[in-house]
Formats: sequence, C-alpha cells, structure tokens
Amino acid sequence: MEFDLIDLIRQRAAGERADVALGIGDDAALLAPPPDHELAVAIDTLVDGAHCPAATEPADIGWKSLAVNLSDLAAMGATPAWALLSLTLPDADGDFVRAFADGFAELARRHDVALVGGDTAHGPLSVSVCVHGFVPRGQALRRDGARVGDAVYVTGTPGDAAAALRCLQASDVVASTLRGRLDRPVPRVATGLALRSLAHACIDVSDGLVADLGHICRASGVGMDIDVDRLPLSDALMEQVDAATARKLALGGGDDYELCFTAPRDDRVLQAVARVGGNATCIGAVIAGSTVRVLDHGNDITPSRHGWEHFSA
Ligand code: ADP
Ligand code: MG
Repeated sequence: MEFDLIDLIRQRAAGERADVALGIGDDAALLAPPPDHELAVAIDTLVDGAHCPAATEPADIGWKSLAVNLSDLAAMGATPAWALLSLTLPDADGDFVRAFADGFAELARRHDVALVGGDTAHGPLSVSVCVHGFVPRGQALRRDGARVGDAVYVTGTPGDAAAALRCLQASDVVASTLRGRLDRPVPRVATGLALRSLAHACIDVSDGLVADLGHICRASGVGMDIDVDRLPLSDALMEQVDAATARKLALGGGDDYELCFTAPRDDRVLQAVARVGGNATCIGAVIAGSTVRVLDHGNDITPSRHGWEHFSA
C-alpha cells in the first residue's frame, strides 16, 4: 500500500528538472547543483491541529507544506529547485494523498520545484518538507546584516492569516480572502530574488512580525523602531476585526509568510519589488540598540509577549 501511495505522489507531484539525475524510486536522489552557487536548505513540519485547523482541505495542506518552505528560501534570496517530502498518515487514504499531492504540485509547478524523494510512514498526520535552492556564492540574504540607519520593510499585509485562524477557532464566519491567506500563503520568492543585491537583512514572518524582527535585531546587534501607523493592514482584515485587534494580529499573529527586510531608505528598493509584481511598505527604522520597539505617535506600545511560541502553555 505504501508503494501505491508513493506512486500516486510521484505521478502527480514529481515534476521534471534537468538537474535531477535520479529522482523518486531509488535509495537516494542524485542531484547536480550549479557551479559557483551555495545550496540553501530548509525544512519545516506541519502537524495536524497546531498548524492546520481541523477542517483544512488536503489540497491546501499540500500547498501550505511547500509554501512555508519556499518562504524560507525566499527569505534567503534563493531560487527553489528540489524538495523532499516526509508524510506520516493515520491511514492509507488514497483520496487524501491524491488531493494533497495536487495542492503540493500546483505550487511546485509555479516555481519549477521537483519532488525528488521522501518517506512515507504510519502515524498521526504530520507533513515535513525539505527544500533546496541555489544562491550565487556569498549573495544570500541573511539575518545578520542589518545596519543602523536602514529602513525596515514588510511585504504584503500581515495579520490576515492570524485573523482567519482566530475566527475559525471562535467558530466565526471568515472572509474568504482571509481564509485563503491562512490556507494558501504565497511565498514571496520573486521578491526575495529581487532583494538579493539591495537588502542588508531579511527574514520571513512565520512567528509574528515583532518576534521575527527581533531575530534580525539579535543576529545583527541592532534595535528597531516600528511605527504602528505605517503597518499595511488589508481591507479584509479591517472589515473582519476592530482596529486594535487588527494591529495586534499584524504585529504578533504569525503564519503570514511575508518577508521582512532592512535596506537603505531608497525608492529603488520599492521599485525593484514592484518590478517583480510584489509590494512592500516601509514600517520603521534600524537604530542602535538590541530590541524592537513599537511606537504609536512616539509612545512605546511594544507588546510584552509577541508571536507564537510552540511550547508555550
Ligand atoms: P527506503 O526504504 O530505501 O527509504 P522507501 O520505500 O521509503 O525507500 O521509498 C522509496 C522511494 O520513494 C525513495 O526514492 C523515496 O525517496 C521515495 N519516497 C517515499 N516516500 C515519499 C514521499 N512521501 N514523497 C516523495 N517520495 C517518496
Ligand atoms: Mg524510507
């Protein structure tokens, strides 16, 4: 049965790339990275319940399992290439696997990602995807390059996914645009590539904007001032929740899979992002210091506990 499932996945999601000498089917894949590049490698796991609300469609789980990983590659300025999939399933459910593989493949095709191997096991639903991408040697975007005087930018509209999750948990009706932002996050791959020669530091927002900006501050040895009035809040978010909640979700909700980056305050940065169909907003500045401060007309309103911490009670 396991082999039937692997075959379903292979047929639907393997894809093809010239640099895959041997894909799914042997003990290991054989891959040919391009010369003069570094491999960017990341892995992320979705666990039933914690990352996907109970009613999440299998195709959306497939999409999201790859999306959260491509978001990590985007944050490094890497071009995606290969993926491995470790799938733990409560039962050998062909319908689930078919839909899952189709959702995965839909996103994989957009980024020319080949699924080159994985593992299939029996147990509570858990999906781990490991991705590999390429960056010209020395050109990756990292967390440790922010400089005092940089502007701080965020792509898209943070808070939407967290609003959807919050409504689902409260059994409230959720606007479909918000639900889409939770179930099918769009990794900002093209933006990450466009930022390679422009940004000084970059991270993707998975835990919450303030928490993830804090990671840049720690790695770079800097502080940040974020202006709450500049947060780009979506219309859908503002219609779903009150203004104070919208801010809170944008600052700390998590699951956004947007990019946060620091770069010189220069119109060329926003132009480069716009040229690849992305959008970004300047929300603050890098300062001397060590932490992220959130300011509302000059008043410090930094949330005391920000972001999603997996092992918190
Ligand atoms: P092994 O026992 O040697 O690890 P498996 O029977 O687990 O081999 O897998 C057979 C082949 O199928 C391998 O090439 C493996 O990479 C691939 N594979 C297994 N599970 C998956 C999966 N969920 N997605 C993609 N490829 C898979
Ligand atoms: Mg195996």
